[in-house]
Amino acid sequence: MKNQTSRLIKPGATIGILGGGQLGRMIALAGRAMGYRFVTMDPTADAPCGQAADRQIIASYDDVEAALQLAAVSDVISYEFENVDARVAEVLESKSYVPQGSRLLRITQNRIREKTAIQELGIPVAPFRVVASLDDLKQAVRDLGLPAVMKTATGGYDGKGQWVLRSEDELAEAYDTLQKAGTELIVEKFVPFQMELSVIAARNPDGELAVFPTAENVHLENILHLSIVPARVSDEVRARAEQIARTIVEKLDVVGLLAIEMFLTADGELYVNELAPRPHNSGHYTMEACVTSQFEQHVRAVCNLPLGATDLLSPVVMVNILGEHLEPVLERVESLPRSAKLHLYGKAESKAKRKMGHLNVLAPTVEEALDMIEKLEIWT
Ligand code: AMP
Repeated sequence: MKNQTSRLIKPGATIGILGGGQLGRMIALAGRAMGYRFVTMDPTADAPCGQAADRQIIASYDDVEAALQLAAVSDVISYEFENVDARVAEVLESKSYVPQGSRLLRITQNRIREKTAIQELGIPVAPFRVVASLDDLKQAVRDLGLPAVMKTATGGYDGKGQWVLRSEDELAEAYDTLQKAGTELIVEKFVPFQMELSVIAARNPDGELAVFPTAENVHLENILHLSIVPARVSDEVRARAEQIARTIVEKLDVVGLLAIEMFLTADGELYVNELAPRPHNSGHYTMEACVTSQFEQHVRAVCNLPLGATDLLSPVVMVNILGEHLEPVLERVESLPRSAKLHLYGKAESKAKRKMGHLNVLAPTVEEALDMIEKLEIWT
């Protein structure tokens, strides 16, 4: 469905958020400061966003009755994850105002549709093939060469539903394992990247567009570890990354936020890897380091307010706090650097690899911020 007619949603109105995780929590914290009210829908009582919202409807994400309740109390509805159930999206759009629409969700829910849409804009993605059988996989590997990366088209995140193919011998096992997910499969050429970058862009229903500074991202075991801003790349690469973000957001008619993850190769080429139609972990640095945070920008965009300035106020490094880091962080809570801003998500259960919070470390240079993080001896 096309974006419904643009409306100005003024402070005082109620914003409904589908999903109660940390992204919803930080949207609610930013939006409440601006005078908005929040209702969230999530199956787990006292969810991170539930703690920050005025109210939580406790229901699973595909509960149509609960979605109707959410629609009834919300002036505008947004979501904090992309795997929104199609029937729920339909109910919300017909019974409430969903300025982000569902077209972008349809694209970003499926890697095949996503890569095809990006390619059609003339923006490079890693060459890929759709595979529906072991024979297809063998042919894809002949076409693309090894190494290659096989991924489930839907449902994967943080490296789940992925297999890096390094030799012909593992094709059968890889195919057998990933096809169990019961979704389409895609094989991509392995991009020997030098660095991973991301850009978050925002657009409101009136068509105003704003782009945040490019982040340099370091992943560990496929989970984001650090975002370093400014990214340590040339001005030319930074400008090109930001232009790619601008083009995608404009051409796909995005409303709200879009995070664009890219690979930078040694010869300076940029390939778009993935899109996320929401605030993104690699944009958490904006909370203290930019004039406007990505969360405030999200609220501004869906409410059709003018977008906030995205200027970087200080070099910054964001480091994720996973379950295994939480205790050491709490042990050092009295000795954290004064320019380190601690954000914890209020999750009841701390598990290894689970995102529990993050630390934004501001410093005169990113090298100094990286040093400060190293000296904490938590992420060793
Ligand atoms: P994704 O789930 O697509 O975001 O991939 C997770 C991580 O796997 C990325 O951040 C990369 O580090 C790596 N990766 C994914 N696709 C490729 C590729 N085509 N070439 C090289 N590395 C990749």
